[in-house]
Amino acid sequence: MKKIVVFTGSGVSAESGLKTFRDSDGLWENYRIEDVATPQAWNRNRSMVLEFYNLRRKQVLQTKPNAAHFALAHLEEKYDVQIITQNIDDLHERAGSAKVLHLHGEILKSRSSTDHRLVYDIKGSEIKEGEKCEKGSQLRPHIVWFGEMVPELENAARLVSLADIFIVIGTSLLVYPAAGLVDYASPESEKYFIDPNATENLEDQFIIIKEKAGTGVPVLTEQLLNRLK
Ligand code: NAD
Repeated sequence: MKKIVVFTGSGVSAESGLKTFRDSDGLWENYRIEDVATPQAWNRNRSMVLEFYNLRRKQVLQTKPNAAHFALAHLEEKYDVQIITQNIDDLHERAGSAKVLHLHGEILKSRSSTDHRLVYDIKGSEIKEGEKCEKGSQLRPHIVWFGEMVPELENAARLVSLADIFIVIGTSLLVYPAAGLVDYASPESEKYFIDPNATENLEDQFIIIKEKAGTGVPVLTEQLLNRLK
């Protein structure tokens, strides 16, 4: 089976109703990123950080996967598909994708603020102040914040390097180190980039599809499946 690696950003979830990160000048749902998505923010104003992610979590729970998520899951009928996502939502999983690596964590999980190995499913939609891990420290969102290490990065780079077909969807490629993953794709692999705002500087590396994910992804996946009929 040929291996397809799909690297997604917030654009793949936009048509499900989740705002991309840069929809409005680096604000995410009216919050400044540095106020809510950094370790400094957590140390300074824990309740604001918890509130921000509690709201994001409620939103995620109300959304549904869109045509792009479903089309990617469908590819598994004929390909070995690995999704690598920068997204913290669970829409790939809910659409049926079996192998999903979350580079930046998962909004539906919490973890200990002192021992990163202690990760829990969140019951309901909130992490509350005073909720503690089994070792007695406050639970925090299971999210990789700006300025923190990306523990899955090496693993993701290895997976990208093994791809026969590499598909990038809905990312500005501005958030590092995740954006650097595209450089690990083998020169022999077939590469596609689906994003309505994809820039020309990617043309040397990728076949560019300037479409929204909900339109562009199903067309491409249908072509890939038809090849093996
Ligand atoms: P970004 O906001 O920097 O870029 C979004 C990209 O999506 C842009 O290039 C834009 O042109 C494209 N886009 C917008 N609508 C689209 C559509 N319908 N179809 C396809 N593409 C579309 O986001 P990023 O590059 O993913 O990086 C931002 C960081 O913010 C990530 O680390 C991510 O974890 C986080 N984030 C996650 C979510 C989520 O989990 N759904 C939402 C917002 C931000």
